[in-house]
Amino acid sequence: MSVRLNPDLRNELVQYGIGDWNACYHCGTCTAMCPLSEEGFLFPRKKIRLMQMGLGDQLEASVEPWLCYYCGDCTTTCPRDANPGELMMSLRRFMTSRYDWTGLSKKFYTSEVWELAWIIFFAILVVLSFVIVLPSFGFHYTSELTADGGVKVNSFAPIRIIETFDWAMAIIVATLLMSNILRMYYAIIWKHTNTKVSLWVHIRELWLLIYNFMVQPKFSKCDSKGYWVSHWFLMSGYTIMFIVIVVFLPWFQTEEILPVYDPQRLLGYYATFGLLFGLFIAIVGRVKKKEVKFQFSHISDWLFLAMLTLTVITGILIHIFRINGMPMATYISYIAHMAILVPMILIEVPFSKWSHLAYRPFAVYIAQLKKNAVPR
Ligand code: SF4
Ligand code: SF4
Repeated sequence: MSVRLNPDLRNELVQYGIGDWNACYHCGTCTAMCPLSEEGFLFPRKKIRLMQMGLGDQLEASVEPWLCYYCGDCTTTCPRDANPGELMMSLRRFMTSRYDWTGLSKKFYTSEVWELAWIIFFAILVVLSFVIVLPSFGFHYTSELTADGGVKVNSFAPIRIIETFDWAMAIIVATLLMSNILRMYYAIIWKHTNTKVSLWVHIRELWLLIYNFMVQPKFSKCDSKGYWVSHWFLMSGYTIMFIVIVVFLPWFQTEEILPVYDPQRLLGYYATFGLLFGLFIAIVGRVKKKEVKFQFSHISDWLFLAMLTLTVITGILIHIFRINGMPMATYISYIAHMAILVPMILIEVPFSKWSHLAYRPFAVYIAQLKKNAVPR
């Protein structure tokens, strides 16, 4: 692997939220304290060293920043207040930008004006679709209610059109995300190393991907188990809601008022509870700033939390208004819900804060591949 110093790297990293990167004097306490650092994958001190030396390619080839779950133990014990936990967090933003071939991730992470402008742009497009485009095809507001007193949602937001749009959005986002994850794989396993991994090892270790996505066992090794629980509820609620609105929308967006114990309503209630619980812990933690992991919030953290909270609230309002036969309130909530949901999925999922949900399990998988790499 050729070693190329980048004298501008330190200035570049500051744009991703890295604070006093030069405070560290390499005592190694953080690495010793980290519950997730292990032989072969030592962090955070080694990564700080790479940062300070301007070794951008070596950072790009590192999987370690993704193995950190930001428990904050290293920051609490650092004798120099170098805040290694936040340095790792900022590195993840930087690395997301390096993997992203479109360059949008870098734009969104380094300019809140840019990110807000795109969110507003997509929100306006959504509103115009409901106010101008769909009515011109005969889909519009009706005060007529269903036989059981519910709102006729599908006459305003036709299920087939919304479902087709959801699928198109999911395919675009998945393609972008997977292409960037392939670049991550290439950087860590191939580009900057002289090693290779057999096809059999790739197949054998695939279970790690699913297991880590669903359980996040490494996160549970951190001292604060409570945060792991709330994060798990948030992640599971989000995943269920995403699958339901993309894959099972015709089953979910019904006009009939189903009994409260119906699986469709129970699943919706669980996902809503999971999201609200996770969001409550994350927002209150960031407002109180008592725990280290909540003390330094990047603008992208707040934007993601704000958009997700508004998506959940508008989703709850749609449900309440729909089953209580309030058409206008239902339609307005539906437009507001989509105007927040669409930019969140198109921007946050592939390019910004949300993408860590995909990068992390892949990182654990790639780390395992790296352990099994042989010289080529
Ligand atoms: S970040 Fe702090 S604890 Fe870690 S090596 Fe540097 S000075 Fe020591
Ligand atoms: S924040 Fe926690 S998991 Fe991350 S490097 Fe520090 S001690 Fe390790």
